[in-house]
Amino acid sequence: MALLPHLGFCEFLPCGLIVVYCIARGVSVHDIVVVGGGAIGCSVARSLAGKSTLDVAVVEKEHHLAAHQSGRNSGVLHPGFNYEPGSLKAEYATEGTRRMKAYAADEGVPIEEFGVVVVAKSDREERRLEVLQDQADQNGVETELIRGADAIAEHEHHADGQAALVAPEAASIDSQQYVYSLARDAMDRGVDFYTGTRVEAVWRRGDGFQLATSSGELRAQYVVNSAGLHADRVASEFGVGEDLQIVPFRGEYYEIVPEKREVCRSMIYPTPDPDLPFLGVHYTRRADDKVIVGPNAVLAFGREAYENTDFDLDDLAETLGYSGFRRLMADPKMLRVGWEELNKSYRKEMFVEAAQRLVPGVEARDFRKSYSGIRAQLVSSDGDLIKDPLFEHADSSTHVLNAVSPGLTCSLPFGDALSDAVLENFDATE
Ligand SMILES: Cc1cc2nc3c(=O)[nH]c(=O)nc-3n(C[C@H](O)[C@H](O)[C@H](O)COP(=O)(O)OP(=O)(O)OC[C@H]3O[C@@H](n4cnc5c(N)ncnc54)[C@H](O)[C@@H]3O)c2cc1C
Repeated sequence: MALLPHLGFCEFLPCGLIVVYCIARGVSVHDIVVVGGGAIGCSVARSLAGKSTLDVAVVEKEHHLAAHQSGRNSGVLHPGFNYEPGSLKAEYATEGTRRMKAYAADEGVPIEEFGVVVVAKSDREERRLEVLQDQADQNGVETELIRGADAIAEHEHHADGQAALVAPEAASIDSQQYVYSLARDAMDRGVDFYTGTRVEAVWRRGDGFQLATSSGELRAQYVVNSAGLHADRVASEFGVGEDLQIVPFRGEYYEIVPEKREVCRSMIYPTPDPDLPFLGVHYTRRADDKVIVGPNAVLAFGREAYENTDFDLDDLAETLGYSGFRRLMADPKMLRVGWEELNKSYRKEMFVEAAQRLVPGVEARDFRKSYSGIRAQLVSSDGDLIKDPLFEHADSSTHVLNAVSPGLTCSLPFGDALSDAVLENFDATE
């Protein structure tokens, strides 16, 4: 155990991760408090501490970092071939992939540079791959379009398709260890971490804020909200993002049994639907060599409802009562997709059928139920899915309202852009 400068202690686990526990006694005062110990919160805190001498702290409601989206994902670094040229997502994903690879190599974070094979099963999908390759060229991402089963088999023996886009820059990273590494860097730069500390309410106090937490009071001149699945709720404490709401979509994974892992050497993805690019179960060989299949995208009946039997009635009522959600679901395509995804959650045979579309040789007995994650999908009151990273400033605060996939891949450049914006706003409000 090592004592932090004040108020708490941290523990170094044998697995090399650090777990930081800080117990706030009395009132602690910081220049900037970052709410949320996920990839975005840790990245922005690390960046802020690297660029300024301000006293920064991260507050995380769980006892571990990366307990939600940042530790429950596919762990794929997505080079920006699938994102609209000129969009922030394309810029951050392309830069983020390269920077995270270098970072992982420097810091010893497990990573495997497998590349990805995006498979087309029809002429329409093949034409879509051509569009994706054009986007990749514009975004400066390396790809190769290959045609015919033999060419695909050279990359992935068991994948079935008529053409494929190969993106060698894609990689698999251990996302939890990555977040802990960011946190370690941040601590080395003087950032304090309060885990097991939920921000429950915020008041204006003088020219800063008073935060009531589950373990005491904090004061801050400035607040950065990167609370992931709860970011809209934290933002509403500051009167920000009132016309936006997070709708939770669970993504469930199966794991391929060890003796059948050879069905996927790298990563096998279906051709994405341009309207719903996050859809489509895929195969991912992870940095620990496990092969996972998923995720689906099913409406979660709670923001942290990780099992398909979990319900949070308040969360569910909030989602169903939201005009943006009702408008989104009024689209017949969304209703059909919603029903299909629900079926993949409750009926294993439907999930396996979707997976067999990419790799026909797998059978239900090759799949073992694994973990799940919940995407914080921001939906506007008009029913639009917000796709680009989004943050908004208010007086002495900045709110990360959207850090949707590939938020992990984007986390280094997004964290830097956020810290620049926060420091500018901090100076302006001083
Ligand atoms: C199923 C799934 C698969 C994905 N796959 C990929 C992928 O392969 N590649 C990729 O790049 N991205 C992927 N993503 C997206 C990526 O995981 C997210 O974009 C990213 O992790 C978001 O990080 P975050 O820090 O914003 O949120 P989070 O990791 O959710 O962190 C927010 C933190 O805030 C804390 N918090 C919330 N409220 C409070 C409060 N009141 N007080 C204190 N703390 C609070 C939470 O406990 C949480 O730890 C995936 C996401 C999911 C769900």
